[in-house]
Amino acid sequence: MLPGFFDSVVTLIIKTSTDLPPDARAAMRAAMDQEPEGTRAAQALAIIGQNIDQAAAGEGAICQDTGMATFEVKTPVGVNQIWMKQQIKKAIAEATKRGKLRPNSVDSLTGENSGDNLGPGTPIVHFEQWEREDVEVKLILKGGGCENMNAQYSVPTELAHLGRADRTLDGVRKCILHAVWSAQGKGCAPGAIGVCVGGDRTSGYLTAKEQLFRTLDDLNPDPRLAELEAEIMRTVNTLGVGTMGFGGRISLIGCKVGALNRLPASFFVSVAYDCWAFRRLGIVVDAQSGVIKEWLYRDPSVATIPMMDQAGFRRTGREIAVTTPLDEATVRSLKVGDVVLMSGRAYTGRDAVHHHLVSHAPPVDLRGSVIYHCGPVVAREGDGWRVTAAGPTTSIREEPYQGDIIRKYGVRAVIGKGGMGGRTLAALQEAGAVYLNAIGGAAQFYARCIEGVEGVSLLEFGTPEAMWHLKLKDFPAIVTMDAHGHSLHQDIEDQSGAELQTLASARF
Ligand code: SF4
Repeated sequence: MLPGFFDSVVTLIIKTSTDLPPDARAAMRAAMDQEPEGTRAAQALAIIGQNIDQAAAGEGAICQDTGMATFEVKTPVGVNQIWMKQQIKKAIAEATKRGKLRPNSVDSLTGENSGDNLGPGTPIVHFEQWEREDVEVKLILKGGGCENMNAQYSVPTELAHLGRADRTLDGVRKCILHAVWSAQGKGCAPGAIGVCVGGDRTSGYLTAKEQLFRTLDDLNPDPRLAELEAEIMRTVNTLGVGTMGFGGRISLIGCKVGALNRLPASFFVSVAYDCWAFRRLGIVVDAQSGVIKEWLYRDPSVATIPMMDQAGFRRTGREIAVTTPLDEATVRSLKVGDVVLMSGRAYTGRDAVHHHLVSHAPPVDLRGSVIYHCGPVVAREGDGWRVTAAGPTTSIREEPYQGDIIRKYGVRAVIGKGGMGGRTLAALQEAGAVYLNAIGGAAQFYARCIEGVEGVSLLEFGTPEAMWHLKLKDFPAIVTMDAHGHSLHQDIEDQSGAELQTLASARF
């Protein structure tokens, strides 16, 4: 039975996780060309560009959140899909073992990580039969940060800044704009969205995600939807959300819309938000041998053009170098917009660590410390560990805990992405601490800013959730919430909200 199928799927997974497809590269290249030199958006895009190159060159994960693996498989009639699904699961476990996927499958009741990305519901595999002789396997890896930014609207509805969204194409347009605005930088903008008009709640989300299998530059065969997609892309970038929500000219790199019939009583608009790390590839394999006959979305005979012509963070001379442990005076001197190069010890902490710290003493002294919202990909190396991917995770999830932890344990800086809310901002001001935004998805870039792993605590929470003791060296991040009550995230949300209002009245 298809002796080469397992190896072909392993190759597909690794390539998808490590090498951004040409259409996503082209869209990101175009975004880079739009942002003026020296702006926050341009600096962030330069890091993203380097990260894309580093991932491809070293076959490392583009982002440490290697995401939910979703396979769409088409088979000729008569192919054993049960066997094929087993092979796909084995391939997922193998890619995880090789460090190309982070262990991402967590028991929702116990919080236990299966360690091999297998478990109920993971990976997602959809089969369809077709009347062709080959087998087609498409894969998308969609991370949690952007998945959390998906949205489903039941229209008619009232939307902030946009007013009423009716059961019309203009109502759909408003829902799409609202979804992009709501995501701000939390889904690692500039993203791409798949949209479904209609269906029920389940088929709507599924079809929205399936739209992400279209190429970013294709043309919708339905002229009405083609016009809607074009209208969104013509106007959405005036919102000014920008890369990572830092403000800027490009907030979205693609909009793909499908439609399903619906019940008369329901009208859903479902939006699947994907980040700039738009990892989606496919293969066509021989139905007898299982060997790859053709790649989808990429032509292996065409050499990849690097995103950047040089490696390393582009310094402007205005960066501020700081070393941990941090004192209050240093932290209070930092202002929103400052670019910091952080060196010294930092501790990773995400959902499990924050939940733990509100009711347990920390395993290390956190006075003057830096907490990094990050679930790294870490490989065993002799008696020690090596970080192979380490970008920031979405910070807002820790909003219920962060302020208390800062006050209680004397934390001086938090690094993450997407910003935090009012409770954290108040704690920063009161206790003398800052929030720094690192560039989401830049897992390879930041792994190179980590000189070593000096220890680990709470490993029982699993690799991504453990508290890793990292030695940073010139780790660049931007102060987006300071100890003076300022938040760049709030400013951009307010400004882009005002733009949204202008777009509301635009005719469609
Ligand atoms: S780039 Fe951002 S949103 Fe996308 S998978 Fe990585 S961390 Fe998540």
